[in-house]
Amino acid sequence: SEDQVRQLQKMEAIGQLTGGVAHDFNNLLTIIRSSAELLSRRELPRDKQKKYIDAIAETADRAAKLTSQLLAFARRQALKPEVFNAATKVGSVADMLRTVVGSRVDLVVDPICASCFVEVDASQFETALVNMAVNARDAMNGEGRITIAIEAAGSVPARRGHAAAKGDFVKVSVTDTGSGMASDQLERIFEPFFTTKEVGKGTGLGLSQVYGFTKQSGGEIDVDSRLGEGTTFSLYLPRTKAPNAVDALLPIEKFAAAE
Ligand code: ADP
Repeated sequence: SEDQVRQLQKMEAIGQLTGGVAHDFNNLLTIIRSSAELLSRRELPRDKQKKYIDAIAETADRAAKLTSQLLAFARRQALKPEVFNAATKVGSVADMLRTVVGSRVDLVVDPICASCFVEVDASQFETALVNMAVNARDAMNGEGRITIAIEAAGSVPARRGHAAAKGDFVKVSVTDTGSGMASDQLERIFEPFFTTKEVGKGTGLGLSQVYGFTKQSGGEIDVDSRLGEGTTFSLYLPRTKAPNAVDALLPIEKFAAAE
């Protein structure tokens, strides 16, 4: 739909913005680094010294401004939690995800789980799905199968550095039949700017978004990957009660009582 196309364009713009900021930031660091080198290496007259010191101070100011712009942008993307059925939501964006992964990738979704309600930011949830689908597509060179499953789960399995944890979750998993990852790669995938993709193809920020969204929503992530076989990313989001007619009427009752 038109909305989904706009959402895709917005996400592409965010990707370009963050990639651009990273590039600009690197340029500024290069200026600071080389000015510092010039200062330390040579016997410089006082006025030359001052020139390089000023360059360092000015460049640091520009870098700080860039960071504060990025933070202001991130704040605008503040989370707006709402209650929805995760399975229904995945079903409703399945066609958009199919456009993203291309026609040579088989994308399978089982969009039925009557009790799979979550209370999270819906657009961040969609962005996380897109980011995981793009990674799955890239890991399969554009050909293969992606399976998205949604189910209620009573616990998160033990993960790197974490014991298993009991709870009441909706588990959303994205499985691909792609390259899989070795353990040294797995250790770094959630780091901002970590990417194994060519320059211009990857920003290394996709999984940072997935991680940030999941943790801020009170959830956990599990990754299961086998080299040469594929990968499953599982998001465990806190499960919530379905909004029912009584809850829906509550604000009206309160309003009536106040009058
Ligand atoms: P980007 O996609 O821009 O590289 P991400 O943060 O989304 O940034 O991913 C970081 C890295 O994690 C990828 O470059 C890739 O090496 C690895 N990765 C993520 N998802 C998968 C996957 N499904 N299969 C194999 N490797 C993956």
